[in-house]
Amino acid sequence: MRRGLVIVHTGDGKGKTTAAIGLAARAWGAGLRVLILQFIKGGRRSGELEAFDALKNFRPTIEVRQLGLGFITAENFSEQQKSARAALELARAEISSGAWDLIVLDEINYAVKFNLLDAAEILSLIEIRPPQVHLVFTGRDALPELIDAADLVTEMKLVKHPLKQGVAAQAGIEF
Ligand code: ATP
Ligand code: MG
Repeated sequence: MRRGLVIVHTGDGKGKTTAAIGLAARAWGAGLRVLILQFIKGGRRSGELEAFDALKNFRPTIEVRQLGLGFITAENFSEQQKSARAALELARAEISSGAWDLIVLDEINYAVKFNLLDAAEILSLIEIRPPQVHLVFTGRDALPELIDAADLVTEMKLVKHPLKQGVAAQAGIEF
């Protein structure tokens, strides 16, 4: 019987989502059913969406859904809050459904940081999961309670980032 892990990718360096996408690809390749739910993100077809849509044609056990509206602004805050709430409900349903072996909750830590969701709500996702389901939480400033509850926590450490040299986000690297 597989033991589901609670995995956290946090820290101020780049690679939290990238590592989750890599893990998702590995898990799909190993025969696991993989769902990636992207909180906050929306409105842009990223490389991972294209890649996983292509993989789906081989075996339909991988799915990515963007559930947000893009950048959080003062103007869209309440809409972002609504969409985060809907995303949480969807996550709850999918986690408890038993339909997936690994679920990535991308950027969910930011949803808490920016007060779109409560800490208790995301911690409850751990409680409701079937014991064999792996959960991955990404985003900076992971809650200490989430880190306590996790089995595997990796903190990406910023050493250098091209943005500091004025290099803007590039397709295939940042999205
Ligand atoms: P990636 O999606 O590239 O793995 P990430 O998930 O670790 O990055 P996030 O905190 O989700 O990082 O940030 C999203 C965006 O911010 C990405 O485009 C990422 O490249 C960029 N970013 C990440 N770390 C830094 C940094 N230290 N300085 C500037 N931009 C960053
Ligand atoms: Mg990210």
